[in-house]
Amino acid sequence: MKLKLCPFCGNEAELKYTITVYFANYWVECFRCSISTRRVPSEDNAIEDWNKRSTNPIVELLDELIETSEYWSEYDVPLGLHDRIKQARKLLD
Ligand SMILES: [Zn+2]
Repeated sequence: MKLKLCPFCGNEAELKYTITVYFANYWVECFRCSISTRRVPSEDNAIEDWNKRSTNPIVELLDELIETSEYWSEYDVPLGLHDRIKQARKLLD
């Protein structure tokens, strides 16, 4: 699968990885602006994530919040915030 150019600066991006005995992490990163995808265990998923990347920074932010929210502690986050973020994200589709 071919990597698309960076949606933010138009430069080339690169598939990166760390592999240990316990896990493998793949992500795609832009050479110039260093923006990157989340880390995933499969090469294909990392490339897919990169290639469908939005150029809208609000969409990017909301997607990141939704992804990381599964690790939020229920004591640190206002009740219902997660759902409100998901609703906001849907409006942008
Ligand atoms: Zn870039």
